[in-house]
Amino acid sequence: MAKKTIDQADVAGKRVLMRVDFNVPLDGDKIADDRRLVQALPSIRSVIDRGGRLILMSHLGRPSGGGYQAEFSLRPVARHLGKLLERDVAFAEECVGPRADEAVAKVEPGGALLLENLRFHSAETLIDKAKRNPDKQPTPEQKAEIEGFARGLARHGDLYCNDAFGTCHRKHVSMYHVPMMLGAGRRVCGKLVQKELNFLGDALARPVRPFVAILGGAKVSDKIGVIESLLPKVDAILIGGAMTYTFLESKGMRVGGSLCERDKLDVARSLLEKGAGKIRLPIDSICAEQLEPGAVTKNISGEIPQGLAGYDIGPGTVQAFRDVIATAKTIIWNGPMGVFETPPFDAGTLAIARALADATESGAITIIGGGDSSAAVEAAGLADRMTHISTGGGASLEFLEGKPFATIEILDDA
Ligand code: AMP
Repeated sequence: MAKKTIDQADVAGKRVLMRVDFNVPLDGDKIADDRRLVQALPSIRSVIDRGGRLILMSHLGRPSGGGYQAEFSLRPVARHLGKLLERDVAFAEECVGPRADEAVAKVEPGGALLLENLRFHSAETLIDKAKRNPDKQPTPEQKAEIEGFARGLARHGDLYCNDAFGTCHRKHVSMYHVPMMLGAGRRVCGKLVQKELNFLGDALARPVRPFVAILGGAKVSDKIGVIESLLPKVDAILIGGAMTYTFLESKGMRVGGSLCERDKLDVARSLLEKGAGKIRLPIDSICAEQLEPGAVTKNISGEIPQGLAGYDIGPGTVQAFRDVIATAKTIIWNGPMGVFETPPFDAGTLAIARALADATESGAITIIGGGDSSAAVEAAGLADRMTHISTGGGASLEFLEGKPFATIEILDDA
């Protein structure tokens, strides 16, 4: 179901409480990479250009949740956003309470205010933590604190807007309880979230075929859900990364010292059975005795002897995967093909990034599912040559797993 977007909401004179993802890397009090701010500009402009009073809220990093910590303050972000918008962006030193209320009351139509880091309050993440860990159920005092925190935030807005895709898989107070408190008819979707839903949602629901998924990264256990959910939808799944070795060992092959989840061999075997004809495993690996920059490497097809471990896909695999990618019309990629942080084990990941860039040029839809694969594409200078790079690593993976996001479901329908 399409969601009502901020563009479709009447914002003139209204206080729009917008949840954004300003979790940017900082270098002292400088923003090291401002892409997340730039990506939020369309929704921000949609409000201030139409005379709305914009109140922005976000988290930054992982503070302890016990109050102010200078290194996690959003103050430098407010300054930088002001430069991007070429106008002042006010800053509130608290996100809830009298000082926050006072700062919100001063926002004029067309003005913008950024609230201090939501995660200075442990209440922001408590419910989500409890969901993930049954031993961490909130006490009655914590429940009251969560309720109070949600009220303190919700009172800032006449209208709520969710434009924080990277946090949409988390039922945090600012993502879920605040829009619930504002109520139906007063909660809309930001333009960035809308774009993510369009690309990821359409790719899954109406893929132009052949539809190929490329999955890499460290663990099979992290990707079981996504492989199971994608198998019925895709024409092929190309596997790379350390996951390869759990799959190979499940077929009875020796993998030397390669990373292997021996407690997941049964799961790997059953995925291979279900995915017969669709799952493609690497046919060779770049191996070394040690994982270190500039290590002496050996390309091995078949079994890997003791004393060596596989750290990247080999050239035979790159060629085979490139052939599949070249004929695909929709490609989704999540997870590096090797230890791309440590050259020369970045070669396979870079080669796949280049193959995707070429595929985009030939008319395929290429979607990079955030996290490490996005970092690799950026590092290769190929970001502009992909159809869409998701802003949410964990969120895009959970989306591909087909998990519904409560934080999006509750938003008003278009
Ligand atoms: P993930 O978070 O599951 O996407 O995994 C990403 C991590 O997997 C990266 O830090 C890579 O260095 C690592 N990785 C990829 N391939 C291998 C491999 N063959 N051996 C060890 N680690 C790997």
